[in-house]
Amino acid sequence: MSLKTAAEYIESLRQLKLDLYLLGEKVENWVDNPIIRPSINAVAMTYKVAHEPKNEDLATTDSMLTGKKVNRFNALFKSTDDMVSKVKLQRELGQRTACCFQRCVGLDGINAVFSTTYEIDQKHGTEYHHRFREWLKYVQDNDLCLQGAMTDVKGNRAVAPSKQTDPDMFVHVVERRSDGIIIRGAKASQTGTVNSHEMLIMPTLRMREGDEDYSLSCAIPTDAEGVHLIYGRQPCDTRKLEEGDIDVGNYSFGGQETLTILDNVFVPWDRVFMCGELEFAIMMVERFAAYHRQSYGGCKPGIGDVLIGAAASMADYNGTRRAPHIREKLGEMIHLTETIHACGLACAHEGWKTKSGNYQSNILLANVCKHNTTRFPYELCRLAEDIAGGILVTLPSEKDFRHPVMGKYIDKYLKGVPDVPTEHRIRMLTLIHSMTFGQIAPSYRTESLHGAGSPQAQKIMIERETDMDLKQRLARSLAGIDEREAVTA
Ligand code: SF4
Ligand code: FE
Repeated sequence: MSLKTAAEYIESLRQLKLDLYLLGEKVENWVDNPIIRPSINAVAMTYKVAHEPKNEDLATTDSMLTGKKVNRFNALFKSTDDMVSKVKLQRELGQRTACCFQRCVGLDGINAVFSTTYEIDQKHGTEYHHRFREWLKYVQDNDLCLQGAMTDVKGNRAVAPSKQTDPDMFVHVVERRSDGIIIRGAKASQTGTVNSHEMLIMPTLRMREGDEDYSLSCAIPTDAEGVHLIYGRQPCDTRKLEEGDIDVGNYSFGGQETLTILDNVFVPWDRVFMCGELEFAIMMVERFAAYHRQSYGGCKPGIGDVLIGAAASMADYNGTRRAPHIREKLGEMIHLTETIHACGLACAHEGWKTKSGNYQSNILLANVCKHNTTRFPYELCRLAEDIAGGILVTLPSEKDFRHPVMGKYIDKYLKGVPDVPTEHRIRMLTLIHSMTFGQIAPSYRTESLHGAGSPQAQKIMIERETDMDLKQRLARSLAGIDEREAVTA
């Protein structure tokens, strides 16, 4: 079976034996847990779209390894068009879930590890690339959900992995055995681990001499022995435990992050894809980052579309839609959203073929894409909140709205234009609330800032990828400092 349905995916999660903790308690039935389930629904949408005839070309493709039809989230990029399709698929999913659907980290990870392992083998005569291909075929054939595990907890940021007081601040090899390796450490802010069958471990940063044990990439099942998952809190998460669906806002969908503990986890050699080749750690990191920074050009515009629609609806409900300043603000929201998407498309179009045969997004433009994403969603949230009005943060609860005595006052006094029910106005307000600082907000605001690397990481890459010497030569020539170019020569 190469294409799971959404229902089959959700059922498959029940087979996992995760060691998961939420709000201080071990969670046994996490699939039906009301705090976790919306995040599972968001991933399930990536399975659903693969079965929709109108989205077939976006959501599925032929495997570069087997030629079989696979979900795009498990596919290698065979062309620049594949990367364009990725970003369009992400926009579609962002529009339909208005949150992080979590599956892109794995997609971007497999492409980075595929090309990097090829080049490690070329230099060192190792067999990582073959192992990786075999493991990826297994992932594709079973349509597994895959999570990329990159962000180490990092401890003292001023000190290299091998120089930390506590050696476990970066995931590392603690023992090499004839049958495999033992690894230890923790990955922070891991997207979608609880909803994944497998995790692909990659290093976080450039490695230097002495960091050999930290130059590591491998794959492990999410329920491997020694893996402990601690569910991250989100604003307003316990609203999901209350009766009713209004106060949650985006009731069906949500993102998910965990603190992922790897406590002496055994990894057989056929799942180890880099182990000590420290000069290749940065190649894997930068290639992954360029893929994932492109991804934000898909999901964030999709979420932005929903926020723009919600803001325009609130303007309708408030009776302000025709006011010039509201139209100007909605126009600005569209401009910001399309700018992010344009960058996501551009870095796909400007991609290049790696030695291994898959395609890599343009690193400079991908970093520009993500850097815009560190800023624009904040402005989009500000504008949506501006248009919605202050009632966004002072609304009574759904319980009060349903109250036999108080309910009629809320219905009367929180009404906007006469022909729109008060409940619609309240529902649109809580949707905006959830997206701008409620439970979805982390994946639209702070995640836009820090996900796929904090702003300074992009600034460094933008500077590194820019040919400043060329720009200065252009300026010197036109200023007449260097010889001017003759037009008729
Ligand atoms: Fe995908 Fe966006 Fe979530 Fe990253 S933040 S996993 S790109 S949906
Ligand atoms: Fe992310």
